[in-house]
Amino acid sequence: MKVLVVGSGGREHALAWKIGQSSKVSEVFVAPGNAGTAKEATNVDLAATDVPGLVKFARDNAIDLTVVGPEAPLVAGLVDAMEEAGLRVFGPTAAAAELEGSKVFCKNLLHTADIPTADYRTFRSAEEASRYIKDKYTEPNEPVPVVVKADGLAAGKGVIVCSTRSDALQAIDRIAGQKEFGAAGNELIIEERLVGQEASVLAITDGETIISLPAAQDHKPAFDGDTGPNTGGMGAYCPTPIVDEAMFEKIESDVLVPVVHAMKRARKPFKGVLYAGLMLTAAGPKVLEFNVRFGDPECQPLLMRLQSDLVDVLVAAADGRLSEIEPLQWDPRPSICVVMASEGYPGDYEKGREIKGLAEAAEIEDVKVFHAGTSLVDGKVVNDGGRVLGVTAIGNSISAAKLKAYTAVQKIRWSGAWCRKDISDKALT
Ligand code: ATP
Repeated sequence: MKVLVVGSGGREHALAWKIGQSSKVSEVFVAPGNAGTAKEATNVDLAATDVPGLVKFARDNAIDLTVVGPEAPLVAGLVDAMEEAGLRVFGPTAAAAELEGSKVFCKNLLHTADIPTADYRTFRSAEEASRYIKDKYTEPNEPVPVVVKADGLAAGKGVIVCSTRSDALQAIDRIAGQKEFGAAGNELIIEERLVGQEASVLAITDGETIISLPAAQDHKPAFDGDTGPNTGGMGAYCPTPIVDEAMFEKIESDVLVPVVHAMKRARKPFKGVLYAGLMLTAAGPKVLEFNVRFGDPECQPLLMRLQSDLVDVLVAAADGRLSEIEPLQWDPRPSICVVMASEGYPGDYEKGREIKGLAEAAEIEDVKVFHAGTSLVDGKVVNDGGRVLGVTAIGNSISAAKLKAYTAVQKIRWSGAWCRKDISDKALT
């Protein structure tokens, strides 16, 4: 089989690596890929959102399966175009990807299906939203525990967690007044601010059957102790002890199964990866958001533990035969991924700095360095993005996996490289 992976991050490197291990696969292509995928697969010089280009490539090269990594091509209709061309593809259609592409659609669907989530209101203008805050919170120094969210995709930046009235009014102005996130702010949500630990539970589905994957925990804030600005994710580990078996079953039955049914009822049957971002509150798990693809970096520790053939599962999901798949086999050992980032990320950063020590890091047993923002220049690997590498390790315990991952991190160097030092500590406390 020939497989095409669409995207260029750590998630796509991990997907290409795992897919390449299948005995059924003869060739893996990655569009556009990075310096890491260039070594293990064939990179194709096409942007992840070049829908006609990718369809033509898949057709011309008789690709048997296309796996779409990031959300942008899903929302842009890559799956629809591939299916129209009679090509097999793993991922949701543009209509189904609205679950991530529109937070208003997602919240309304959750509400209609009675799936636990924060109480919310939606607004179409800054005036309306500001009036709501002013009318609801009348005392001068009253806490205002709300979260203001732009409806559309804003690369994780369109969600503003507030504590005071001025926080909330400023957030409304940024999203719906100044339109800092463009058309993503044409509608906005104000929702109750929830308290608890966060966890991610992902499931692969063909629209009828779901296969849930072990729960993981991401680390979105830039710095240790969950401080600093939000990022695409600075690390993850899996499984997380904060989701025990009873909680996992509750999430499956109260969140994942009803969402698949609700999407079917909304005439947007969902096929692909359903990613539930959850807050584990005192009143039980509540949905913060849905993503419609593997999380990055959660995908890396998840695939490090997967022993079953991923290609069988992806093909069965694409073909609507997921019920025929045997339960997935997982390495019982936990795994952790530490993201190494460029100096200045999540703000501006310089590219083109040579990365050294990759070969030494790769020699450490049970370690895999997934590339994200890297490229090859004159045969040298250089940084080419904010999140550069996902150093992933598996070990007999979370602390053993952590030790291996950070030992590998110490071998890798480039000017300005940094990472969080506390990935997975939440599991240890
Ligand atoms: P992503 O980049 O993962 O797509 P996003 O832009 O879709 O992120 P959310 O995941 O909805 O944004 O929110 C980002 C973060 O904001 C969450 O991980 C959580 O920490 C915080 N957050 C969102 N909603 C709430 C809420 N109701 N209560 C408390 N915190 C929240």
